[in-house]
Amino acid sequence: MEILLDMNNVPIASIDENGKVTILRHIYFKCTLCSDCCRLNNIPATDRDMVRILDAGIAVGQAVEEMSPVLIASKDLEKGLVKAYILRKKPFVNECAFLEESGLCKIHLFKPIACDLYPFSVRKNDNCLLATVHPKNVCRFIELDVEKNRSNTLEIVEDLLAKLFD
Ligand code: SF4
Ligand code: SF4
Repeated sequence: MEILLDMNNVPIASIDENGKVTILRHIYFKCTLCSDCCRLNNIPATDRDMVRILDAGIAVGQAVEEMSPVLIASKDLEKGLVKAYILRKKPFVNECAFLEESGLCKIHLFKPIACDLYPFSVRKNDNCLLATVHPKNVCRFIELDVEKNRSNTLEIVEDLLAKLFD
C-alpha cells in the first residue's frame, strides 16, 4: 500500500509498498506541547477510541457531548467513512474537556488516534493512504521547505508509520 504525505496540498513524501521512502520537500516538526490543537479543534473519537476511553473508566457523558456520531474519513482501506464522536468541551470555552491546567492530557495513554497523529490527519485516497496537514491546521510548529540539514522529514515519516501500524 502506498502512503503519501502532503502539507497544504503540497506533496512532501511517498512511501511505496516495499517501504521505500522518497522525500520530495523538506519539513520540520517537533511538538512543543503548546496544546493549541487541544484548544482549537473538534476532536473526533472513533468507535475503537471510545472503547479504549470507556474501558479506562471514563463515563460516556464525561467523554462526549452527545452520542450522535459524525462521519470522518478512515485510515482503513476497507472503509470509506467511519463514525466518530466529538470529545466533550469544557463549559463556555472551546478546549477539550481532558486538557489539564498544566497543559497535559488527562487521558494521554488512551487518547484518540486523531490526537496522536496531529498535525497530520490520515484518510483514504483511491488506493493509498494520505497523511495530510490540512491548510486550516492550527499547529504553528510544522514548517514546509526548511533547509535540508534542519529537516527531520524522515523522522516524521517513521513516527507516523509507527503510530499507524505498530
Ligand atoms: S501538535 Fe502542534 S499544536 Fe498540538 S501540541 Fe504539538 S505543537 Fe502544539
Ligand atoms: S484528548 Fe488529550 S490530547 Fe486529545 S485534545 Fe483532549 S487533551 Fe488534547
